[in-house]
Amino acid sequence: MKVADLHCDTVGRIQAGVDIRTGNPAGHVDIPRLRAGDVGLQAFAAYVSPDVDPHRAFQSALSKIESIEEACRTNQDDLELVTNAASAEQASAGGKTGVLLTVENGHAIEESVDNLETLRRRGVRSMTLVHSKNTSWMASCSEERCEFDGLTPFGERVVDAMNELGMIVDVSHAHESAFWKVAKRVRRSGRPFIASHSNAWELCSIPRNLKDDQIREIADQGGVIGINFFASFLDERYHGAAVERNRDIRAAAAQAELEHNRSHGWDPKWSDKSSQDLGKEYRRRMAGIVVTSESIVRHIDHIVELVGDDCVAFGSDFDGILSTPEDVTGSNAYPLILDLLRERGYSEATLEKIAWQNFLRVLRAHD
Ligand SMILES: [Zn+2]
Repeated sequence: MKVADLHCDTVGRIQAGVDIRTGNPAGHVDIPRLRAGDVGLQAFAAYVSPDVDPHRAFQSALSKIESIEEACRTNQDDLELVTNAASAEQASAGGKTGVLLTVENGHAIEESVDNLETLRRRGVRSMTLVHSKNTSWMASCSEERCEFDGLTPFGERVVDAMNELGMIVDVSHAHESAFWKVAKRVRRSGRPFIASHSNAWELCSIPRNLKDDQIREIADQGGVIGINFFASFLDERYHGAAVERNRDIRAAAAQAELEHNRSHGWDPKWSDKSSQDLGKEYRRRMAGIVVTSESIVRHIDHIVELVGDDCVAFGSDFDGILSTPEDVTGSNAYPLILDLLRERGYSEATLEKIAWQNFLRVLRAHD
């Protein structure tokens, strides 16, 4: 069964020199595994770190977009850039993985709606409004304080412009206060919005996950939530231990990145190496706490029970997460996850919605 995945950070690996045609052994997404997983659509996020100099953020997004485009050109038998639902259907029918360009972090637009329009012209179809730090116009769920109430008037303009341009508004990483302001704004456009890689707060109560009233709001506007495969966002017990055991190395890695950026500018190779090293040590320290694909199913169950089966999709966050359920090691895991849902009693019609149609419906609503 073909699958759409709403978020991966694989371009970071590509820019570090990994050839996804042959494999991505330290990571999650490569062409053999996209094929094994029957991934017909993979959103590739041009992620811009909040630590990138504000005057270089747009350039940083463009450079990632170029790398994604380049990967599609050199692997044209397997990957095809797609810009809408029709081309996504076509690419997957032709046995390829459709690659959808997205941008992660509104920091990328350098406070310019013109830059947003340029991204749209380049084929970017969605933007995650914020990441782990507040921007000048939007509050992040990872920050405790914000100088304004979630979203500024300029932030509202960004949301309006995205709706006008047919770019999908993505609220993953949004602070709750920002979430509600965005939701209210998007409602005026009649377009659905998404949380591309977030889970249910009821099952794992961390700021990155969505409370039930947020899930209801996304569903009510016809949007979708892509389930994130980070073990720490899936399982509360794992999360608690992860915070405890890794606080020091995560803080040290963040500090080192900040300093490296300051003195050398943003360097994708350095950054990839640093997160690989962090990941190795993080997983070593987490040994013994087992999370499996069952946890993914639990989040899907919760959302389906709450709002029905039109609102769930997959947003693995592959190549952007420090750990996964132990039986989910890359894009090839989708058949296993779908089988687990089948065993659970999900109908084929519902599985097709979750795996493919729900997101395609949202994409079509932005044509
Ligand atoms: Zn993210």
